Amino acid sequence: MTRLETGEPHIPPPINVKNAVKKALDGNKTFYSHSKGIYQLRIELCNYYNQLYDVDFKPETDILITPGAKQALLYTILGSVDAGEEVIIPIPSWVTYSEIVKIAGGNPILVDCEENHDFELSSDIIDDNLNEKTKVVIINSPNNPTGKIIPQKTLKEINEICLENDILLVCDEIYDRMIYDEKHHNSILSVNSNLNNCVLINGFSKTYSMTGWRLGYIISNSTLINVFTKFQQNSITCPNTFAQFGAIEALSGGGDFVRESLDIYQKNRDYLLSEIEKLKNFDIIKPEGGLYVFIKVSKVTTDTYDFCFDLLERFKISLLPGEEFGNNTKEYVRICLGTNLENLEKFIAILKNNYE
Ligand code: PLP
Repeated sequence: MTRLETGEPHIPPPINVKNAVKKALDGNKTFYSHSKGIYQLRIELCNYYNQLYDVDFKPETDILITPGAKQALLYTILGSVDAGEEVIIPIPSWVTYSEIVKIAGGNPILVDCEENHDFELSSDIIDDNLNEKTKVVIINSPNNPTGKIIPQKTLKEINEICLENDILLVCDEIYDRMIYDEKHHNSILSVNSNLNNCVLINGFSKTYSMTGWRLGYIISNSTLINVFTKFQQNSITCPNTFAQFGAIEALSGGGDFVRESLDIYQKNRDYLLSEIEKLKNFDIIKPEGGLYVFIKVSKVTTDTYDFCFDLLERFKISLLPGEEFGNNTKEYVRICLGTNLENLEKFIAILKNNYE
């Protein structure tokens, strides 16, 4: 079975990170931690952001460590959206956003980043969809599934729209360290340095191959962090204690791993770009960052589910149908770059031999 539908890196986490957890276990760091996460990890994360963006986050008040970015999003939406209120989600988007909004009783308003603009987000589509019920806008850059990076100008405009209309801006930056070519990640911190009416969400899953460890975080102002901490205190109490010791090591000693794994994803991306371009029946959206490529398959099928089932049944290759990311991407499939080159070569050979 060749699995290209996954949403995670295939490389195991760095050895020093695993060793830090073993040491934590041997040292009996096995009890509850502080509900906001262990202090040292909060210090390391605040230092990382404070140095990188010249900001001033405090480990005591401005950050909450969560069991994954997913849980961070859940707390954020549960804490900000009441029944019947609206959350604007540009599509294509990761499916979890709209599901979490529904859990909170809110209405996800899916707005179309148009295909003829290469699915690039514009501030106009946010502006055009606002009304008195809008409470939150969720943005994701680099984007899952397209790999698009939101340009600084657009980020600034969206931030201003949200501030003017008293709307919480939720920025999911989980792929911030996976950037290709000479591109640059534009963090919300570059346009809203104290995260005024804004929430930054990130985690360790993708950057450090720590998906199963369940560690993410929210940075925001102390008022919101206190609200989100109540959800954590009264649900799971704290994130896994010994895993957090691994996260501290990842931040301080994981730099080589981040560079080396990015090199692999870049090579995988470049291979797919050059090979797909040679095929007449397939087109590709060039990812600027993130862990995925989005391939248009409409010249060979009218139903991407059928196409995915065909690949699965005949060739034991799994892909993700594009309609999982919104109704504007029914002609696409998503492929994960967190795999080895042989798997991608197998996939390309199957396209060439069976669908060209
Ligand atoms: N945000 C985006 C855009 C994702 O694609 C994913 C996972 O696929 C997550 C968040 C979830 O990350 P975590 O493993 O930290 O919950």
